[in-house]
Amino acid sequence: MKKKLTKYINQLSIILKPARSYKPVWKKYTNRTLRHYACIIAIAVSLMLGCTKQVSISQALYIKGDLVLGYQPKSNLVLKQSTPGKPKYPVIDVHTHFSSDLSPIFLLEKMDELGIRAIINLSGGYGAKLDRMLEKFSGYYPDRLIIFCNLDFSKIDDSDFSEQMVTFLSAAHAKGAKGLKIFKNLGLTLKDKTGQIVAIDDARLDPVWARAGKLGMPVLIHTADPVAFFKPTDRSNERLMQLKRHPDWSFYGAEFPKRETIIAQRNRVIARHPDTIFIGAHVGNSAEDLMAIGKLLDSYPNFYVDVAARVAELGRQPYTAREFLVKYQDRILFGTDRYPGKTIQPRYKIYYRFLQTQDEYFDYYDHPFPPTGEWKIYGVFLPDEVLEKIYFKNAERLLGLR
Ligand SMILES: [Zn+2]
Repeated sequence: MKKKLTKYINQLSIILKPARSYKPVWKKYTNRTLRHYACIIAIAVSLMLGCTKQVSISQALYIKGDLVLGYQPKSNLVLKQSTPGKPKYPVIDVHTHFSSDLSPIFLLEKMDELGIRAIINLSGGYGAKLDRMLEKFSGYYPDRLIIFCNLDFSKIDDSDFSEQMVTFLSAAHAKGAKGLKIFKNLGLTLKDKTGQIVAIDDARLDPVWARAGKLGMPVLIHTADPVAFFKPTDRSNERLMQLKRHPDWSFYGAEFPKRETIIAQRNRVIARHPDTIFIGAHVGNSAEDLMAIGKLLDSYPNFYVDVAARVAELGRQPYTAREFLVKYQDRILFGTDRYPGKTIQPRYKIYYRFLQTQDEYFDYYDHPFPPTGEWKIYGVFLPDEVLEKIYFKNAERLLGLR
């Protein structure tokens, strides 16, 4: 109980750190013991008010001497509320994850409800898991339930790793796997027997990228993560709340490579394998800097990006995002990082609203807390011919689905 209370007090101390403008007030409370006393009082008050739950999901502020707990301002704007239940064109979601326990009938039902023509499960795996996936989903409805395979990196220290993976890829392709997904551990946390992190442009992987190109299998690659995950988890971090909920998503510190280092490794691979299609997951994980990702798209015609889990980033910079989506309309793919029917964070309708409408200042999530940062988004009302490409035409072309 004591341990739990101390943890709660410590967390509250962090949440209660006021914004810069209230610094002079907070300075009175710089003494740690005093701060803890203040927190104990805050807990008592919040328990009395029955709002402890809100404290953890919203902001607490000091305004002059007054502590405002559970601050959740509601906008007074009266705005148009278009909520398209279906997309203007049937969607291909190139970025989903689901286990083989899911029923294909359930998926297809939800897909029809949401106007989704096809989905790609990026968690196809390898070995027996992949076989089951292919049999259960692609075997059932190959044009609508598409599976990408993954590499078995536990074999990275085998002297014939490259040959094993190339053979695996060809076999997976023959069985029906349409592409290869690389998870973010490559370049970030995956180590080999030397104790070094395996770089994305490690020579052992070159034959794999080359084979994927030969087989016409796109490589959807998740590299690095949002900028905030590589910065200190402090009051200036724009995803502080998210990192407090998922401390293991912070890659700040000497034990992790720099974000720029990993992204540079990926870019060298894309440059080295012009005949292989690479799809950078989550706007190539540079949604915070669309100019940078635009330059990459300019340099490498074999590079594409998906928008999965980055509507929050794109929607908070609607002018720049719209320009970007229009300019690179042939290279952008629709994705959500969820699956149709997933109850937590139902994202599809929010994506449709973002891409299609001119709605302003709306939530990019559908639950009590903002999953990433504390901001609202704006729709980018893409023209029909751009929507068509992003919703399905680009994916159709890359996957040979016509
Ligand atoms: Zn994903």
